[in-house]
Amino acid sequence: MKYTKYILVFVLLISLFFGTIPQKSVKKTEYMLDTVISITAYGKNAKKAVDEAFNEIKRLDNLLNAFSPESEISKINQNASNGFVSVNPEVYHLIKYAVGLSNSTFGAFDITLKPVSDLWGFNTENAHVPKTSEIEAALKKTGTENLEFDDNSSAIRFKLPEMAIDLGAIAKGYASSRAAQTLKINGVENAILDLGGNICTIGKRPLAFFEGIANGGFYKPFKIGIQNPTGARGESIHTITAEEDICVITSGSYERYFEENGKRYHHIIDPKTGRPSENGINSATIVSKEGALGDALSTATFVLGKDGIEKITPLCDLVIIIDSENKIFEYRKD
Ligand code: ADP
Ligand code: MG
Repeated sequence: MKYTKYILVFVLLISLFFGTIPQKSVKKTEYMLDTVISITAYGKNAKKAVDEAFNEIKRLDNLLNAFSPESEISKINQNASNGFVSVNPEVYHLIKYAVGLSNSTFGAFDITLKPVSDLWGFNTENAHVPKTSEIEAALKKTGTENLEFDDNSSAIRFKLPEMAIDLGAIAKGYASSRAAQTLKINGVENAILDLGGNICTIGKRPLAFFEGIANGGFYKPFKIGIQNPTGARGESIHTITAEEDICVITSGSYERYFEENGKRYHHIIDPKTGRPSENGINSATIVSKEGALGDALSTATFVLGKDGIEKITPLCDLVIIIDSENKIFEYRKD
């Protein structure tokens, strides 16, 4: 056709004028870290970068999963009551970081609660409400002050018998930031990662050609929906616009739970009572630059509720609480 050449040149000029030629995208979904993980990345390096990011998540899953007998966490849980156990330095530092966050959240986030959550049996066929005496006995095997550290040999010891740790409330957030970093190292400038509700963004969302023309530019910030706690999965109740690289991480009562005698018991434990926290909220979302921080703080906020919010706001950019009537409350760092 006579005009084809001119149309192509026109399209090329418009693309250059608006900043880019629309980019190819790669989306991959896998089950790791006990959850569904999906990564969408854009640009010519995307395919290899996404594969590398999943390799990184798999590596962390092998190190951190408390339910896999070969993990560093299981190694600690099996042996640290008998003396110091040397662990992978990365895991050692993550555990120390988690203990620091326990202190900053006045104990609401606590990786030593495993003896208590095992009693409840969330995610097993044996999920049930334990006896009060069992809960009291299990609580005596908890407390981050009962962890002892040796920085020289990256070693950890439990001061009490039958203690156990679980990084389930921080591992996905940590992995989301590590995976985002892996994408960047592999040349990706635009991507969105979702690790079971732990969402991190890199750059912006590239638009398809005609969408870009209509928009007056080929990129738009990613929009992240916050799950409606009482709606169908995927139904948003609120939206966050990612103007910069951020992580948006939510803990909710709808995530993992069982019902007994008509009452719902969710999987986030209040370390003060040894029971699922009860403070009139359906979910807590943290917006922060760092995934591990956001993950730990979302759990802590879920435990503390609105009354404890002043303990959380100094530690991150934005907290969103959805209460039991699905009302939305936003709190920003002063
Ligand atoms: P999810 O895994 O559904 O995203 P969280 O990040 O809040 O939710 O992590 C919940 C997991 O963390 C629980 O399944 C349990 O293993 C552990 N956990 C429960 N209560 C606490 C707590 N108060 N502090 C730290 N970890 C917790
Ligand atoms: Mg968490």
